[in-house]
Formats: sequence, structure tokens, C-alpha cells
Amino acid sequence: MLTREWLFLSLFSVFIAPHCCFRAEATIGILFNEITWQPLLPLRNALKKQNMVDQAFVRFSTEIQQVSATDSFNVSKTVCDLLGRKNGVAAIISVQGSETSPIQESICFNSELPFISMSWGPTQENNISMSLNFYPEARLFAKGLMEVVKALRWNSFVILYETEEGLIRMQEILKLQEFHRGKRNSILVKQLGPGPDYRMLLKEIRNASEYIILDCETENIIPILLQAKDLRMLELHNNYFLTSLDAHTLDYSILKTTANITTIRLFDPNRQEFQNVLNRWLLSDNENEDEIMKVLPPHTVLTETVLLYDAFTHIMECIKSLAATSSVETNPISCEEKSKSKNGFALYNFCRVKKPEKTLTGAVKFDEFGNRIHFKIDIVDADMPTTALGSWHSHNESMVLYRGENETFDASVANLQKIKVIVSSRMGPPYLMPRSASYEGEVLTGNARYKGYSMDLISKIAEIIGFQFEFRLTEDGKYGNWDVNKKKWTGLIGDLLERKAHLAICDLTITHERREVADFSMPFMTLGISILHKKQDKKDINMFAFLDPFSVGVWIYTATLYLIMSIVLYFISRMTPGDWENPHPCEENPEELENIWDIKNCLWLTLGSIMTQGCDILPKGISSRMTVSMWWFFSLIMTSSYTANLAAFLTKANMEPTIDGAEALSKQTRVKYGLLESGSTESFFRNSNFSTYQRMWLNMQQFKPSVFEKNNSDGVNRVKTTRNGLYAFLMESTQIEYVVATNCELKQVGSWLDTKSYGIAMPMNSPYRSAINKAILKLQESGELGELKKKWWLKERDEELCDSTADDDDDGAELALANVGGVFLVLGIGVAIAFVLAILEFLWNVRNVSVEEHMSYWEALKVEFKFACNIWITKKKTKPASSVSSGSSKSNKTDNKSIMHSILHSAAGSFMNLNNIKT
Ligand code: ASP
Repeated sequence: MLTREWLFLSLFSVFIAPHCCFRAEATIGILFNEITWQPLLPLRNALKKQNMVDQAFVRFSTEIQQVSATDSFNVSKTVCDLLGRKNGVAAIISVQGSETSPIQESICFNSELPFISMSWGPTQENNISMSLNFYPEARLFAKGLMEVVKALRWNSFVILYETEEGLIRMQEILKLQEFHRGKRNSILVKQLGPGPDYRMLLKEIRNASEYIILDCETENIIPILLQAKDLRMLELHNNYFLTSLDAHTLDYSILKTTANITTIRLFDPNRQEFQNVLNRWLLSDNENEDEIMKVLPPHTVLTETVLLYDAFTHIMECIKSLAATSSVETNPISCEEKSKSKNGFALYNFCRVKKPEKTLTGAVKFDEFGNRIHFKIDIVDADMPTTALGSWHSHNESMVLYRGENETFDASVANLQKIKVIVSSRMGPPYLMPRSASYEGEVLTGNARYKGYSMDLISKIAEIIGFQFEFRLTEDGKYGNWDVNKKKWTGLIGDLLERKAHLAICDLTITHERREVADFSMPFMTLGISILHKKQDKKDINMFAFLDPFSVGVWIYTATLYLIMSIVLYFISRMTPGDWENPHPCEENPEELENIWDIKNCLWLTLGSIMTQGCDILPKGISSRMTVSMWWFFSLIMTSSYTANLAAFLTKANMEPTIDGAEALSKQTRVKYGLLESGSTESFFRNSNFSTYQRMWLNMQQFKPSVFEKNNSDGVNRVKTTRNGLYAFLMESTQIEYVVATNCELKQVGSWLDTKSYGIAMPMNSPYRSAINKAILKLQESGELGELKKKWWLKERDEELCDSTADDDDDGAELALANVGGVFLVLGIGVAIAFVLAILEFLWNVRNVSVEEHMSYWEALKVEFKFACNIWITKKKTKPASSVSSGSSKSNKTDNKSIMHSILHSAAGSFMNLNNIKT
């Protein structure tokens, strides 16, 4: 029994007593460049906890020293004094990084004393090291920053850095230029300069990009952002990424901005565990919790404070753990004598390998050189610091994004609601038109000045999302194209790029060129390019188209020749003996011969020939027959040519050229065609690979005068005013639909040449794009988009709508008939003249009858007229009925004359020489 007790006492005195009852002393030297109260809190708390609560084997104390940030000599003296104190120090913790940090580190290295830091420094790669840095390893941290930029999907941005260290932090981000090669991305790097006024530099980069990475001291962030705000660089579309790990401590509300500011942090001040620790720190310093929370809200805790807490607790834990098994005794170290720490090397290696537990900055692991290679970077929106957007883990290099679509959507809507959205547009019916005052004296201002489809559409979207907007007209009135000479975008797209507007709306086509520099909402209208042309102009129909086969000259020559030939025939037939004939065939030896070819008969024969009707009498003389044959030959050729030409003219040549589509248009040059300049229609033809469109584009460039128009209305007017439909305008189908609804003389020709859509444009990567898309989708599904189109295309029209049921295609055969209207006219006029002649002849006959029958003129007229009107009588007496009953001697004479007249008026009379017979 005694032996057992003795053995226990011996063991206690040898192994347990030194570590249990005699607590070892460990002093940790803490170096500050500037002593502030915040980092002292965790030190005090951790010390209190270790020494009083945990009652560990080791009793810890701290030796806090303030060292110069610039004076190396002073620093080395202070550190050496610290190391040379009577009981020595177990380790040195350097809180703030400065120019003198390397001196501190080197003294510790030479003394084999652990040196613990928590500020950014270049990666350590010395084989033998005595330092542990709780700040993330420089290269990994740079990589983390690059991953954040990638996660934010920034392609083009400006890097503003303050110090050379900042530029080193940017080294991985700079590689993104390579990563996106081939795409339109550019990185502009600028040093901030001395400050405090950075306006010149900000102005310089204003137009380069609205994505800015700012690497500067935390205290400079707000002044720089305020200056950016003065320069209108803190608007809805501006994006900032602040690389400072203390950026979360700033109050961004004073900026009153809708700009997107992204920050990063190593710990989450909103975590319950963190807040519990923070409470402990404060309680150990001040027992009144309410007061504490006012003094140190979680989001104001600096990264340095948190890292100091992690480092301090870790070194204490290491010493404690080592003390349980071996000595942790510290010895004074002399810098001059180059003495070394007894246990420092073991402690350093133990601390480097041991994984710190319960840290506030997450997982900590060191590489063989003491660099921290395990850490997590949280990405935080300055506007919503409570929930991180995502985080990057260094140990598996993975990016986890927490913020879902919904949160991003809500944030963008909230931002949109805070501002007055500027909507850029251009005048053009029915999208945007000036509104007239509804009563006399009404002064229209702001949005009330305009009306139209665009205005209604944006009003509905604004109502759904809940924002206010203001319409502004783009200065040059263009849609938006890249101006090669000015090297900038024009029109609405230019406004977006110059940040003059948040949205651009009108009949703005979504094209790939525009899409490269701006974002578009989902389409609200679908359309295609088509041809606007004039319908057949009835007033232009040529009634005398039957004259067209021959030119005026040919007609005049033919008519002259007809007269000349008739005269020539007259003389030839008088000369040729063959045409002098016996007037009484029964009489063999007549005293006289007669020639029937007087000028009247010659004219009749030549006319009958050229009209291809022939004639009852024909010449018999050789020369006269020869003459007539030649005339017949001439007539044959002339009438055949005329008939052939007339057919061709009536069906084609004299009609409006048939344009039934782009193909037909491209193959002819008679009808000129043009389009709106500087629009997507122009781009379509300029960039097309199809031969038809290429040919059309070449033709359009060559047409004189220019066929390009400044706006669609000018194009429409040109189509309307160009005679004979000799101008067609290539325009978007929605516009054509609008124009032809009231301009009944115009029509759309052919189908669409392409298919495209209109969308609302906005700056690239606009956060509110999804909100706008959602609103458009809602309007589409509820049928309001369709209603809007009906309203502005059909209902809200000042002019009367055309009758769409009317047959508007009157090309073809009917056209030819209209063209031969002149023939009917000639027939009508000819017959009318013949009728007038008949009346004159009739009246003349009445006169003769009245003279010969001794009747009054009216009596004779009455009798003759009655007779003429009685269609049942087909035979005519040689004297009127009234005169038959009177029976005078004179009447017998008249009877004879009447008989003679009746003979003379018989068929043969027309071609017999009456004078000869009378005599
Ligand atoms: N809507 C077209 C544009 O956005 C204009 C046109 O070419 O007709 O450019």
C-alpha cells in the first residue's frame, strides 16, 4: 500500500506537476503600426477566456508595441527589445502590414521565432520560413478575384488601382483579356494617382466602360465613388467591383445610387456564430450589452480584427497543445548575439500543420511556406449585404452562386423603381407621333407631348413593373448604326451607349450588330422586309394605245403615202389604155370609152387595201395593176407589222411593268427602288450573301437620283408621287401594313424577304432586362399587344380606311381592253360623222324633192321623214305620196327624174360617171 502511494507521488512530481500545478508563462508580442481599440477587443477577450475561463496549463500574456510603418531602424530596435525582454516571447504577431513588415519578419526568422501576420503580402516561397500569414495567399487571392469577375460576367472593364500591390492583385484578372480573345472585350488599366481629386481620371475612363474594378484603400472608396457620382458615373447601368476586404464596413447609402456595387469579404458578419463571438468580445470589455451593440455593429468589424482573433486564438491553442506534452518555455533573445528561441521552431511547425478550429474566417490551412491556402471569398452586393451573391472556395477553386434569379430580379426591379427611366425614341407613325392639345391653350409638356404605339407599350410595361419614365427624342432621329467616319454608334443605340437613356423603343429591329453592343428585350412584334408599290394608275391608261405600234413619223408617212398613192393611181389609170373601157358592153364599137378611176375610187381602193378589206372594182391596166400590187405589198407588210406590234403592246409593253417580288425587281431597272438609309433594312441588303439582294443593293447604289430616303414617310411619298409606278420602296411589313391601310393607291408586293423582330433596347447586361421581358410576356399572353397594334394600325387613324374587300389587282386582260378604248372612240366618232353626213344628205335630198315637186320644204321633209322612219316599207316610190295625187304635167317629168334618180341611187350608181349618163 505504501509502495503504491509512493509510486503515485513520484509520477505526479515528475510528469504531471510541472504541467499542472506550475502554469507556464507565454507572452505573445503584438506589433501595431497604429493602436486602435477595435483589434484590442478580440485580444482581451481571447486572453481572458484562456487565462480565467479555460484555466489552461499555460498562462498567456501579451506585450503590445507600436512600431513605425516606415522607419526600419526604429522597428528593428523595438522588435529586438521585445525579443530581449527577460522572459522572452513565444511568438510575434504583426497586425498591420507596412513597409517595415519584412524587417520584423526577418528578425523573427533569424531568431527562429514564429512570426504571424494578417495582411496582404507577396507569396512566400523561402525554403525555411518562420512566418504564418492568415491573409489569403497572394496568387490564390488574385485568382479568386478573377473568378469573381468571371462570375459577374464582365467582358470589358476598367481596372483602377492605387498601389503596385494592387496591380499584383489584378494579375489574374488581366489574363481575362486572353480568356475572351476573339470576343469584343477590352481591359483598360489605370493607376489612381495621388488624389484626392480623381475626377480627371474618371472623366478619362467614363466612355471606356461602365464596369470598373476599384482596388484602393478602404477609406478612399467613398470619396472616389462620390466623385464618380458628380460625373454621372454612378447611374443604374454603372457597375463597380471593390476588391477591398473591408468594403463591407462602408455606408453606401450616402451615395444614394442605383449603381451596382459588388464587394467581397472573408467572413460573414451576419452569421449567428460571428455575432455571438462579437458579443463575447464586447462583454469582456463592457458588461452592458445594449451599449456594446451600438458601439460595434457586426458589419463594422474589420477583416484585420477578425484575422487577428483567428491568429491569436490559433497561436494560443498551439502553445497550449504543445505545453501538454513538451516545454514551451520562452527565452530572451539577443539580436546582437544572434541567439535563437529555444522552442520557437517547434512551435512554428506545430502551428503551421495544426488546423485552426473555430475560426471566424472559415477553413485555414497553410502551405509549407506558411501561406494561407484555404479560405473563402464571399461576393456581396453593397445594396444587400445580408445575403452573399456567391462564394469562391480556394481549396477546390469552386465558385458557388447563391443568389437565384428571383433575388437578382427583385433587386433590379427595386433599382428601376427608384429612378426615372429615360426612354429614348424617334418620331415615326404609328410608334411615336406628336399629340395635339385637347383644348385651346393647353400646354403640353413631358410625355404628354407624344402619343403612339411605343408610348402605350412602355406605359403598360411601366405600370406592371412600377417605374416612372420620361420620353426623350434622339438627336439625329436615327435608329442606330455604326458610323464608320465618326467611329461611334448613331441614333437610339448611340444614346444607350452614351448612357443618355436606360431604354430605347420604337420600330427598332433586333440585329446581331446591335446585339453586340446593346441588350434587347424579347420581341414585341415580328415582321419582314417587303416592297411597297403603287397599284395600277387608271388615269395613266393610254386610250390611243392602238397608235403605239407605229411611231408618229410612221403614221404621218403612211397617211401621206396613202394620199400620194391614190393620186399616182389616178394618173396611171388615166394613162394606161387598159382602164379605158366600153361603157356599154353590148355596143361593139362605142363612140366613147370611159375610165371609172376617178380620184374618189382611187382613194377607196387604196384605203380598202391598207385596211385589208379589198375593193369591188379593180384596175385592168398593166401599169395600174403594177401600182396597186406594190401598194398591196406595202399594205401587207405594214398591217402585219402593226398587228404583231399591237398585240405585244397591248399585253405587255404598254402596261405597268409587272413587279411581283424582289426577284422581278432585281431583274429590271425601269422601276427604281430604294430604302431607308441607316436602318436595318439597309444593313440587310448591304450584308446579304444572296445574289438577288446583292444585285439589288448594287443597283440601288447606282440609281440616279439617289433612291435612299431619310425616313419611311419620304419613301411612301415618293412611291405615291412617282408616275407610272416607276418607284418602289423596300420597307418593313408592319410599316407597309400601316401605310396601305389608308393609302388605297398603294399595295404590298410579294412576300417577306426576311423575318425579324422589334425589341426594346437597353445597355448591355442591364439587370432589369428580365423584368422588362416578363412584362412583355404578360402583355402578349393577355392579348394586349395585339390590341395595341389594332388600335394604332386601324382605329386611331385620321384618314379613312381602304376597303379591303375591293379587288385591287386589276392588272392583265382588262388593262388591254382599257388600252383599246381609243379604237371604240374612233369607231364612235367615225360613225357619228357618217350619221351627220347622212342627215345632211337627207336634208339635201328633201330640198331637191321640194324644189322638184313644188312642195314646201317642211312638207317634203315631213313626207320623207315619215317614209324614212317607217321601217316596214322597203320600197320607195320615185315621188312622194302627196305629190302623186296632185297629177300635173310637171309631175311626169319629175317621175322620169325620179326614176332616173332611183337608177342613179341603185348599187352601180356609186361607181358610174353620173354626169355622162345625165348628158
Ligand atoms: N426598323 C429599322 C431599324 O431598326 C428601320 C428600317 O430599316 O426600316 O433600323
